[in-house]
Amino acid sequence: MAVRMSTPSSPPRLPDLDFEALPAEELIAWAHSFFWPRLCLTCSWQKQSSVLVHMVADLGLRMDTVELDTHLFFRESYETRERLVDKYALKLIQPGIPTIAEQHRAEGPNLWERDPDRCCHIRKVEPLVQALAPYDAWISGIRRDQSPSRGTTQKIQWSDRYGVFKIHPLADWDERRVWSYIEANEIPYNPLHDAGYRSIGCIPCTRPTNPDDEERAGRWAGSDKLECGIHHDTKLERTA
Ligand code: SF4
Repeated sequence: MAVRMSTPSSPPRLPDLDFEALPAEELIAWAHSFFWPRLCLTCSWQKQSSVLVHMVADLGLRMDTVELDTHLFFRESYETRERLVDKYALKLIQPGIPTIAEQHRAEGPNLWERDPDRCCHIRKVEPLVQALAPYDAWISGIRRDQSPSRGTTQKIQWSDRYGVFKIHPLADWDERRVWSYIEANEIPYNPLHDAGYRSIGCIPCTRPTNPDDEERAGRWAGSDKLECGIHHDTKLERTA
């Protein structure tokens, strides 16, 4: 059954289910039955993306795959995207994002060095607001144990910012379980993970880390920034 929002900020009632108790596969299957076709999956071509695109295919389901290509991904991330698109016949949705040259002209060079929050806002948050407009629910691969900022992630939660339900099938998975699933199912994954990059984003803001560092310690290393902002749920004061 597909549902439509009455307004972007008034979530419809969900069935009285214990979503936190649902395994990842059952949560995805329920979300597909309740929200499809207004349901999408976002992929950043890290290990969680590999798990989710395989899981959706293994369930015999299809859904749009939204990619926020900041134009600053590693070559390995683009190659991983191609392998997963080919293997799972993904339908990619790619919102428009300013080119680096356009951003340099509008904001000055290397905005990520001077104001990474603004850079993430332009290259990730605003495009995601546009990309999610046709959908009522968004599946993403964030996990509670990735960082303290994700520790309270629920398996399903409403976002005032995007006017969608956010669905997190892997919220209660740990890193070892992610790798076990990938290995057991022989899923293509981003080879940067084998080179010490436990979390992977844009080139200027991603570093490899030591095994005993926090999983996302290589993102915006040396600053107090923990998140790009796409997983914040408060309404935006401006989108331009
Ligand atoms: S991760 Fe870095 S380069 Fe990418 S959008 Fe954010 S600040 Fe810009």
